[in-house]
Amino acid sequence: MQLTFTEMHTPTVGLQIQVDRQLYTEQSDFQRIDVFECEEFGRFLTLDGYMMLTERDEFIYHEMMVHVPMAVLGEKIKKVLVIGGGDGGCVRELCRYQHIEHIDLVEIDERVVAVCKEYLPGVACSLDDPRVHILYQDGLKYIRRIEDEYDLIIIDSTDPFGPGEGLFTMEFYGNCYKALKEHGVLVNQHESPFYKGDALACQRAHRNIVHSFELSRLFQAHIPTYPSGHWLFGFSSRGVHPVRDLNPDWWNSLGLETRYYNTNLHKGAFYLPNYVQKLLEKV
Ligand code: SAM
Repeated sequence: MQLTFTEMHTPTVGLQIQVDRQLYTEQSDFQRIDVFECEEFGRFLTLDGYMMLTERDEFIYHEMMVHVPMAVLGEKIKKVLVIGGGDGGCVRELCRYQHIEHIDLVEIDERVVAVCKEYLPGVACSLDDPRVHILYQDGLKYIRRIEDEYDLIIIDSTDPFGPGEGLFTMEFYGNCYKALKEHGVLVNQHESPFYKGDALACQRAHRNIVHSFELSRLFQAHIPTYPSGHWLFGFSSRGVHPVRDLNPDWWNSLGLETRYYNTNLHKGAFYLPNYVQKLLEKV
């Protein structure tokens, strides 16, 4: 019998993938974890039936989450906090920068890390880097007691329901602000602006961030396996600007090979379609 993975993006529209093999399934204390393999996207990880990443298109998401802030703050980024992100994709990209000294990964579910190490080694490959410190905690609680500590915080969470819900709230963003140093930057996955339900979540998250940070801009990327394929990320700071403060010469001098990110695309990613601008004006 042919196995298929289906994720509904609206009541009537969904993503369907013909699966070759199911490699793993488990109900952890927090969520159902599945790993599948298919022809078009290679292996893919789902949590509670929602697509988290595929081997084929994860580079887009992880490169944008990491290289955008890195190309702005450059060598000022020594200490980084990643909340969520137990698959290791953001950590892998961060570890490519020799000058980063310390990375804290706060992931609520240790089973996600174990499963990704076993079944998605190309993504989880830097989780054993000596600079990486994994803390199995709820990011919402962890951040409450941190002050003036990180140069960069990356929120690589699940969607705004289940364990990830609190990571889209005003309280949480306010605590991220407090945990950042003066020059620090927060980057977060910001959901899709396209379908109505997702757009509302996107608007709500933006309202909560704008309330907490002096400067907050969104940038976009095309991610084929996420709802509508049109994905947004947030860049927030006390005043550091994602385009004016971009340092393309520094970033290009590193010679990092990337498959999606480049410093021209960086600038373009912050110019949003009119319908997205309108959505954000309403907050
Ligand atoms: N790129 C993905 C996406 O947007 O579909 C996110 C991937 S990553 C696997 C998300 C991780 O966030 C999961 O491993 C989940 O366990 C973790 N997570 C969810 N809520 C959390 C919380 N409150 N604190 C820390 N980690 C959390």
